[in-house]
Amino acid sequence: MKLPHLQSLLFELKKIPSVGPRSAERMVQYFLKTKNSDLQQLSKLLTELKHKIKTCSQCFVFTQEEDLCSFCKDNSRKSEILCVVEQAFDVFRMESCGSFKGSYHVLHGVLSPLNNIHPENLTLQQLQKRVVEKEIKELILAFDSDLEGDTTALYIKEIFKNSNVKISRPALGIPLGSDLSFVDDKTLKQAIENRNYL
Ligand SMILES: [Zn+2]
Repeated sequence: MKLPHLQSLLFELKKIPSVGPRSAERMVQYFLKTKNSDLQQLSKLLTELKHKIKTCSQCFVFTQEEDLCSFCKDNSRKSEILCVVEQAFDVFRMESCGSFKGSYHVLHGVLSPLNNIHPENLTLQQLQKRVVEKEIKELILAFDSDLEGDTTALYIKEIFKNSNVKISRPALGIPLGSDLSFVDDKTLKQAIENRNYL
């Protein structure tokens, strides 16, 4: 049975991280059942996504058609403390716990030689430049507590070893090997408040 359109759609859906053959089939079933207007809205949002959503030129969090994000524009936030995170969505996660009033820096990944992610693939150079130019006093490295997160933290510590920048990581309480997105707000708040200096 030749269903080239369906097969092409399944092929594209399976490229999405965490989507396997069964999930792709369930999505197609949902699309076929859903209202045309919802499908059109989804299609419109996807088509416009890369045009509308940019990254902030300073901290690399998401912005919508603006050069600087709302965090970088907000003068009430402490600009000399940066919370360094792996992905832009981690910033929203940090904000929901409500205990951090500094600024952010998104690396857009963590070091992972096995997956071909090297320092030049991240925003580390921009971080280094920002620390010098903006006289940053502290970096809180809020990565997941796993091998890649730890490797990235050590690399950043090495970059700034001859500077006065304080470097910390959220306190244990975030279990080893855990993903920040699964830690509850209270635990995350405590982990930031009781952070350990490296
Ligand atoms: Zn920003």
